[in-house]
Amino acid sequence: MNAWHAAAGGAVAAAWSLPAVAPLSPAVAAGLRLRRTAASGGGVALTFDDGPHPEGTPRLLELLRDRQVIASFFMVGEQVARAPALVAEVAAAGHEVALHGQRHRNQLRLAPREVARDLDRGAACLADVTGVLPRVYRPPYGIFSPAGLVLVRRRGLAPLLWSKWGRDWAARATAPGIAAKVTEGLGPGDVLLLHDADYYSASGSWRKTVAALPRVLEEIGRLGLRPLTASEAVWGRSAPQPSAESTASGGGPAGSSRETSQSM
Ligand SMILES: [Zn+2]
Repeated sequence: MNAWHAAAGGAVAAAWSLPAVAPLSPAVAAGLRLRRTAASGGGVALTFDDGPHPEGTPRLLELLRDRQVIASFFMVGEQVARAPALVAEVAAAGHEVALHGQRHRNQLRLAPREVARDLDRGAACLADVTGVLPRVYRPPYGIFSPAGLVLVRRRGLAPLLWSKWGRDWAARATAPGIAAKVTEGLGPGDVLLLHDADYYSASGSWRKTVAALPRVLEEIGRLGLRPLTASEAVWGRSAPQPSAESTASGGGPAGSSRETSQSM
């Protein structure tokens, strides 16, 4: 995600696009039942958007493996198609592969049928590589259109935003600044947003995220917070195990009842 304000600027002023401001307004997110924090306390969910990236993703995987921390990667279908082996590697390491769309497009700039196609193509792209359909979705820029939110839920995809971000996509970001920002006031239930790729942000931004991650992991460990996957953040410890059949019908509401039963 990059340049949130630039992407959403026009949207914020428009009352019809209330879901679009959810990333900036916990109250709006709560009203729309858009989860920003983990369902059960005691842990934090570390999430990386925009990958996979042939350099950024492996570097982060290595750091996570060394510290034995599980994370979630919200991947973009068009990047998955370029690096399928890397996606398989992420899944094999025990991390969750979640959906960030087929293309990195702001839902507000797409017609509903285009959002639907993007969701379906992205989910199919991930399933082709991992063997399971993604269960959790985060839109590019965190921005839902009203129709997009309906389409996401109709597909049984659970939306997950974030409660803390490192602003690691910005050209002016620094590793110490990213680590400080994303861990500021860190506590149980937080969902952290970072990026493993620079396809939609400042060139080379992932290098700063890689440099920041050890400090972030150190802080998570110091606070004794258990790493949660995105699914655990949405459904708690009873998160359903990945199953190719559970959501394979495409249009079925599998998972939506669980998701909508949660409060923020
Ligand atoms: Zn993104």
